[in-house]
Amino acid sequence: MEKKTINIIKKHLRRAAIAHPAKAEAVRRARRKFRIGAYKNGRDKFKTKFECAQCKCLMEREAIEVDHIKEVGQFDGSWTEYINRLFCSVDNLQVLCRVCHAKKTKKFNEAIHGGKKYL
Ligand SMILES: [Zn+2]
Repeated sequence: MEKKTINIIKKHLRRAAIAHPAKAEAVRRARRKFRIGAYKNGRDKFKTKFECAQCKCLMEREAIEVDHIKEVGQFDGSWTEYINRLFCSVDNLQVLCRVCHAKKTKKFNEAIHGGKKYL
């Protein structure tokens, strides 16, 4: 199979993995709810934030990403293996802030590709 074709399939599989239920579960586990006051009627007012597993900062939902603790890595010839790594269990997923995720991804890419981005 051509490298170009493999990259197209990988891109679409990664997009499909957004709907992986384990991903939503990882986000749920990182959710932190705070009481930030009360409404006029006396009911508690809450704010929800998400905790980065690395730096422990609390972020809005838009600022966090779900990371594969053990990276999905490269396609090694087996789509089944690749898909299993991509659609892994929640135990291999963690929520990271964008900064921590970018750092981890950069480090991983440098280790396996000498800094070149992989798909
Ligand atoms: Zn972080």
